[in-house]
Amino acid sequence: MFFFFGFGTKQRDLGPGSVRTCPNCGNTSTWARVEESKRLTVFFVPVARWGRTQLEVCTICGVATQV
Ligand SMILES: [Zn+2]
Repeated sequence: MFFFFGFGTKQRDLGPGSVRTCPNCGNTSTWARVEESKRLTVFFVPVARWGRTQLEVCTICGVATQV
């Protein structure tokens, strides 16, 4: 028997988030809001999804913070 398992993190773009001043690069800009979830796939078919969180990502340097 051969099974092909995969673990992955999937990110979904939720559009623009709030305007923040970045603690990393110091720029004030509109951050992007993304939903991130971990998932298990078997033969490329997602069978489980957990740990769904929403993040906001600085569009300039890419630093992410949980919201
Ligand atoms: Zn930044």
